[in-house]
Amino acid sequence: MDERVRYNDFSGFLAAHFPYKVQKISINAGFTCPNRDGTKGYGGCTYCNNQTFNPAYCHTEKPVGQQVREGVAFFSRKYPKMKYLAYFQAYTNTYAGLEELKRMYEEALEVENVVGLVIGTRPDCMPDSLLDYLEGLNRQTFLIVEYGIESTDNRTLKRINRGHTFECTADAVRKTAQRKILTGGHVILGLPGESGRQIIAQAETISELPLNTLKLHQLQLVKGTRMAHEYAEHPEEFHLYKADEYIDLTIDYLEHLRPDIVIERFISQSPKELLIAPDWGLKNYEFTERIKKRMKERDSWQGKHYKNRIQ
Ligand code: SF4
Repeated sequence: MDERVRYNDFSGFLAAHFPYKVQKISINAGFTCPNRDGTKGYGGCTYCNNQTFNPAYCHTEKPVGQQVREGVAFFSRKYPKMKYLAYFQAYTNTYAGLEELKRMYEEALEVENVVGLVIGTRPDCMPDSLLDYLEGLNRQTFLIVEYGIESTDNRTLKRINRGHTFECTADAVRKTAQRKILTGGHVILGLPGESGRQIIAQAETISELPLNTLKLHQLQLVKGTRMAHEYAEHPEEFHLYKADEYIDLTIDYLEHLRPDIVIERFISQSPKELLIAPDWGLKNYEFTERIKKRMKERDSWQGKHYKNRIQ
């Protein structure tokens, strides 16, 4: 079997949409988060330290257009023909009035060689008025709306203080997809209270959502978070995966996932100075290579055990 077809990868997805190479540029547009300021909750998700989101070129005080231009300049020195997607990544990128949001999104799109937007947000922060606007925007440019799902289990969502339920996620994903907007999600594998078996079962639930793309992240304990305190007090409540163990968990998850969902990444990387554990010392591409190698060893492929698989 061709290694590229063992799972649906993001570069293949981009190649199907664009006739040139495309790079995402992360932006910190200075949004806050409704799960921190009391609108949806206080204190934020227990694992969240937002300092982990931003590369050096994106600083909150700079206007969106400037951040995007600096990001483009950074990459275009090495790849002059590359085009870009402006990625509204930090905090909750739909948490402002409609006019302000439009101004920021459109400012990013005006930068030369920017060919689309990726907007990361919470599922409880997507009003219909914004979806109406995004539906129109999606007819003019490439757009992905990416929701933090994290878990399909409401007990876990409560425990990590997400401030929304899985039903809320399902509703937002469906409404977005109904408008023909590409819809992404990210989940964290290894949250406290979830066994390997439960995590793998979640792949079937995720598969029922009309998602186009999915990011998988390992649970990372980050300094300064509530979860770091919980871990210090009750380490027995956590299972921190070793790299090889997480690779097998990820492959099991993929085997139960709908085959057409595009996998954008398998791990996230918090800055070393903020990371408590696990520290695998693997870069994203190194990890991906190990997943591919292991899938081959196991003769595994995405959707191998997906229950609704067409025979
Ligand atoms: S993870 Fe996202 S939703 Fe949760 S507190 Fe951090 S910024 Fe807010």
